Amino acid sequence: MTTIDEEVAGYYDKLVRRNAGEVEFHQAVAEVLDSLKIVLEKDRHYADYGLIERLCEPERQIMFRVPWMDDNNDIRVNRGFRVQFNSALGPYKGGLRFHPSVNLGIIKFLGFEQIFKNSLTGLPIGGGKGGSDFDPKGKSEGEIMRFCQAFMTELWRHIGQYRDVPAGDIGVGGREIGYLFGQYRRLANQHESGVLTGKGLNWGGSLVRTEATGYGCVYFTNEMMKARGESLDGAKVIVSGSGNVAIYAIEKAQELGATVLGFSDSTGWVETPNGVDVELLKDIKEVRRERVSEYVEEAQGATYHENGSIWDLTADVALPCATQNELDGEHAKGLVERGVRYVAEGANMPSTPEAIEVFRDNKVSFGPGKAANAGGVATSALEMQQNASRDSWSFDYTDERLHGIMSNIFTMADETAKEYGREGDYVVGSNIAGFKKVADAMLAQGVI
Ligand code: NDP
Repeated sequence: MTTIDEEVAGYYDKLVRRNAGEVEFHQAVAEVLDSLKIVLEKDRHYADYGLIERLCEPERQIMFRVPWMDDNNDIRVNRGFRVQFNSALGPYKGGLRFHPSVNLGIIKFLGFEQIFKNSLTGLPIGGGKGGSDFDPKGKSEGEIMRFCQAFMTELWRHIGQYRDVPAGDIGVGGREIGYLFGQYRRLANQHESGVLTGKGLNWGGSLVRTEATGYGCVYFTNEMMKARGESLDGAKVIVSGSGNVAIYAIEKAQELGATVLGFSDSTGWVETPNGVDVELLKDIKEVRRERVSEYVEEAQGATYHENGSIWDLTADVALPCATQNELDGEHAKGLVERGVRYVAEGANMPSTPEAIEVFRDNKVSFGPGKAANAGGVATSALEMQQNASRDSWSFDYTDERLHGIMSNIFTMADETAKEYGREGDYVVGSNIAGFKKVADAMLAQGVI
């Protein structure tokens, strides 16, 4: 008789064979399959009707050429992607990433994660993800706009408020969403607000969407701390990255009484023993679009480091908010030795499997990205609700909804982990809770 371990290894081996070289995708699937072993042991019907194989295969993968003209009138060619992974719970929903490292495997890992994350929000959204290997760094305003227009010239025929609703991710913020929406509106000849989220406030955007992922990650962290009788008030926190997620995680953590001891970008990291001047950081990153090294020129007591790692700092809480696999097993060991007790992932899959193992072995309370950073997509779904009802909500009301959603996600992850005998393991809790809702919907809807 085949054991559960052999059965799951069979799913995984087949996936690796059929998706050769897509290492991030393999990694994301391996983690979920590992959590599902205890479900498949108890509820055999989740193995019926090819459910696991169907879940791991995107419903549709779109790859396209994106030709555009740079400021020297030279033609550049990038590659565009949209992976429409699963629409059992609602229209595909997930961000667009513009970064030179983007390839199909990265978009598939992000799309796969997105299925479970979106399910955890309790809102009617399926999972998808997209992007391009376009590098926005060093591009002029005109080049960014022409690239976004060229990208949307193909993407527009595949999206729609009931079909697929993209948003931002790395390299795609409010400015890029504006250019993308403009081109969609021109091609579709209609002002379809619900086709993209993360829009500007005076043309269909939602208050709190900009802050949502960072704030949500901090709300989730506070729930993990409450469960152990602690809080962020007085805590020392490290936040990696200095983009959208990092900035608002820093802002909310400090608002709740924590001191943020450092942040980073892809070239270095900044140590801030007295906490972060968030307004200065926003000005440097959001308005002037400069590097974090600029911060130490203007803030007192901060130092910039090109060597070592932000994970060399000593803190109670670590919030990785930059990119995948940025925190490895060695970083995790160092953090644990220096007393880290809480880690919540603002980024998608920032901790390697070895790092997660170290946290698990050392009883670090660990919030995986699909739960801890779900606040962004949840607020995007709230933006869709406002668009559908031609309404706009106040900041406080929207923030309250976000807070409620993050508390619910924590409760769901916590209770599911307990139900399966893995108390405090929020990886297992989130994977199983996210999976069951999607799986039940897929089973109810037949083999499609
Ligand atoms: P931004 O583009 O706003 O910021 C990204 C930050 O991460 C920058 O500081 C960037 O530094 C750094 N970074 C990017 N790539 C690398 C790399 N290869 N090595 C080191 N640092 C890197 O993106 P977001 O803040 O929106 O996204 C950050 C993470 O959060 C991603 O994993 C994203 O998928 C995830 N996420 C985002 C959501 C959102 O609502 N925006 C929602 C849920 C998850 P540099 O400027 O030097 O490149």
